Amino acid sequence: MTAVGFIGLGNMGGPMAANLVKAGFTVTGFDPSDVARSAAVEAGVAMVATPAEAVAGADVVITMLPSGRHVLEVYQGEDGLLASAPAGALFVDCSTIAVSDAREAAALVVSAGHRALDAPVSGGVVGATAGTLTLMVGALDEDLAAVREVLEPMAGRIVHCGEPGAGQAAKICNNLILGISMIGVSEAFVLGEKLGLSHQALYDVTSTASGQCWSLTTNCPVPGPVPTSPANRDYQPGFAAPLMAKDLGLAIQAAETTGTTANLGTLAAALYREFADGNGSGLDFSAIINSIREGSQA
Ligand code: NAD
Repeated sequence: MTAVGFIGLGNMGGPMAANLVKAGFTVTGFDPSDVARSAAVEAGVAMVATPAEAVAGADVVITMLPSGRHVLEVYQGEDGLLASAPAGALFVDCSTIAVSDAREAAALVVSAGHRALDAPVSGGVVGATAGTLTLMVGALDEDLAAVREVLEPMAGRIVHCGEPGAGQAAKICNNLILGISMIGVSEAFVLGEKLGLSHQALYDVTSTASGQCWSLTTNCPVPGPVPTSPANRDYQPGFAAPLMAKDLGLAIQAAETTGTTANLGTLAAALYREFADGNGSGLDFSAIINSIREGSQA
């Protein structure tokens, strides 16, 4: 049976690794956090003291870390993952990182004699727990085929986006749409309030008209019309505002390096950054509607 080394067992990595254990894989893990370690042990992951030990016998190495810097650091060095994993191991980075970092990481993996995939995810902690994440994969065909049985217990959907780096590219493009659309929906609801429209009336029209989108019909930023949206539970995430600020930062970085005009994305990135650094630090990104409302006093 395929052996998996799992590095980074936090809010997302923990339940993803738990689903691999449930599917029968041997999972050996490393995370410096005590909280993450004990939850992982509870889920049946064999936790070890160093990243090197976690991957020493691994056919597949999965990383689920906060940023590109963490991934590049843990890969490299004498006791790094690249030097410690068996030759030809499949390295799958599921973290959300810059496309440029993903490409750099993939080049390092290949030059160390291994195989590289990026597989950032969408679906949040709920999807990670349920094993229904969408995985956006950047990989060679044969590498995805080789690792697919390991990805499946974590995924509701696996989309092959292209070669290494393409998964991260798809992820930040999606979240560019999401970040901008949530601001659009929020501005419309605040304008509707000012014009005397009820939330339900505006929802009933827009959810079946051309304004329809995920930010409206699944993550509606006002309480009421969509009972499961974070607005109904004081904006507890969900998808936290700091993660949206991070992803839009990565999208804008990519827009700048590719010379892409992204005026709305740049503005949205600045608005989420300000919100995440202030009142929004522990809230769902849809709570940005409250800053729009506060800034709208006549
Ligand atoms: P998290 O902070 O809960 O988990 C990250 C884990 O990495 C922590 O447990 C931390 O201790 C560990 N870590 C840090 N440095 C390490 C190292 N050198 N070696 C091993 N472990 C180390 O974050 P998360 O919410 O699980 O997110 C992980 C990644 O997934 C991020 O890139 C994030 O952008 C992305 N993501 C998150 C969500 C979400 O809803 N939380 C959704 C999609 C994508």
